[in-house]
Amino acid sequence: MTKIAFIGLGNMGGPMAANLVKAGHEVHGFDLSDASLKAAAGAGVKGAATLAEAVHDAECVITMLPKGEHVIAVWTDLTTLVPEGTLVIDCSTIDVESARKAHKLAEVMNCISLDAPVSGGTGGAAAGTLTFMVGGSQKAFASGKPILEAMGKKIVHCGEAGAGQAAKICNNMILGISMIGVCEAFGLAEKLGLSHQALFDVASTSSGQCWSLTTYCPVPGPVPASPANNDYKPGFAAALMLKDLTLSQQAARQSGAATPLGSHAAELYAEFEKAGHGGDDFSAIIRMLREKASA
Ligand code: NAD
Repeated sequence: MTKIAFIGLGNMGGPMAANLVKAGHEVHGFDLSDASLKAAAGAGVKGAATLAEAVHDAECVITMLPKGEHVIAVWTDLTTLVPEGTLVIDCSTIDVESARKAHKLAEVMNCISLDAPVSGGTGGAAAGTLTFMVGGSQKAFASGKPILEAMGKKIVHCGEAGAGQAAKICNNMILGISMIGVCEAFGLAEKLGLSHQALFDVASTSSGQCWSLTTYCPVPGPVPASPANNDYKPGFAAALMLKDLTLSQQAARQSGAATPLGSHAAELYAEFEKAGHGGDDFSAIIRMLREKASA
């Protein structure tokens, strides 16, 4: 049993903290939202009134927050609150630069740290089946792995500080580009009089096969559990895809990588969000692409 402070008990953090409790850890949670605190308390998380109260005596602190600026603000506060040797883990999806800055703050505290963003969404968070992409030293990874295992089924050590975030944004850039590619193929098939099922049957067993097609198929029918069968309710919201594509483009600019398709995918998702569809599943972008088609 480890005494863990969990900061950020939202859609992801709430169920993740609940799984830590289920695994027998003592979890003290803090969130700016009373509703999130109350929901987590129902799952056995001990609610704290302040960050200081949550991290008091904690052996491990986990943050699951919206953006880099939130993580840096909380980790900066931690520098005066946690003792040397504490394990500090950030599971949020943030930019690589902020992740590296956070590791530097941990160094100042003489703490060990991990960036450990996740894939698997709210379903995976509730089921404890998340994939963790982890950056940090071997020592930090060895300490953090048993804790992450209570919340996920695959824990991958990707490299040193920031490598987890790098893996996350590279993966999600592939996802955004591939979803648009699959949507374009269905749009072209419709114009050519080819049925959705026929395209699916061929592409899902041919070289066009990919997760966007076989798990999140953007048209109803071929994959009954995909959001297209449920009026594009997320799933994985288009606003989150835009966030991750924006992070990938920020990293591409900073590192000098050429990502022309990633850049175009980010523009298309920005247009989709601006049109009011940020809350739709990201596969719903097929509707916007159809609207662009000439009659
Ligand atoms: P969320 O908005 O539901 O939860 C974030 C929580 O952080 C909120 O409850 C908010 O009140 C709290 N918070 C903000 N600032 C705080 C502070 N200073 N101190 C304490 N609490 C604070 O977001 P979410 O969906 O849980 O996502 C969290 C992170 O996980 C994001 O970085 C997101 O990109 C990433 N992520 C989300 C999903 C998903 O499907 N929702 C999937 C993978 C990764």
